[in-house]
Amino acid sequence: MAVVTGAGQGIGAALARALAAEGARVVVNDINGANADEVARLLSEEGLQAIGEHSDISSFDGAEALMEAAVQAYGGVDILVNNAGILRDRMSFNMSEAEWDQVIAVCLKGTFACARAAVRHMRRSGKPGRIINISSRSGLRGSIGQANYAAAKAGVLGLTRTMSREVEKYGITVNAISPRAVTGMTDSVPDAVRRKKDASWSDSSVVLRGSPAQVAPAVLYLASEEAQWVNGQVIGIGGDKLSL
Ligand code: NAD
Repeated sequence: MAVVTGAGQGIGAALARALAAEGARVVVNDINGANADEVARLLSEEGLQAIGEHSDISSFDGAEALMEAAVQAYGGVDILVNNAGILRDRMSFNMSEAEWDQVIAVCLKGTFACARAAVRHMRRSGKPGRIINISSRSGLRGSIGQANYAAAKAGVLGLTRTMSREVEKYGITVNAISPRAVTGMTDSVPDAVRRKKDASWSDSSVVLRGSPAQVAPAVLYLASEEAQWVNGQVIGIGGDKLSL
């Protein structure tokens, strides 16, 4: 069974759908409970197995509550996709403490809190486990106006590599995916601004954004049995040589 955080819309909803279509029972987490329930309802209507769950994953307590809900509903956690994320963009010299703290809390602390809680359950079950962290190309390359977000997403790579080494002996893998912009949280950024911010977008022939569904195949692969020997890795998704 799989837990996907922040799955009430965007990439998370696409990942929940893809995992459910592969036969996983999916806990669709989102702090926006109405969206989580709606995604789960739509999947259930299609004959797939899913429930909505509403924990705020940015605290250890919230992460524990989410894993407990997964254990109650489906008896355990085999796959965790750490997808929940937020943006609070501003140039670093004007960024407020709240803008810094909020993004670090959801994107970095929340990812760690959920991974930590999931590992505790996975270790108890004695079965192989999969943790897939959604980072971002911003974490590798930096991104103007996103010091908070880029720092959090770079931090996700550090915790991915560290945890992968710590838990390998329990049959648990921890990997990351680093997408370039896809539709979703970046929708509010006009294409002209996007091209200005990033030299690799200045060529008008470059496809500016992918779709959430384009992230799913990499997640399905990392969640699969075949990926047992893939651990501590980062898969870039983005359509050009600068993905990483
Ligand atoms: P989105 O804003 O469409 O969805 C994020 C979801 O996370 C929302 O439903 C939101 O309610 C939920 N969420 C926020 N805080 C939460 C919390 N504390 N607890 C539980 N849920 C919470 O975003 P998206 O575009 O689908 O992005 C999903 C992930 O992919 C994020 O981690 C993002 O950083 C990453 N990413 C996105 C892009 C992109 O271009 N969209 C590119 C690279 C990486």
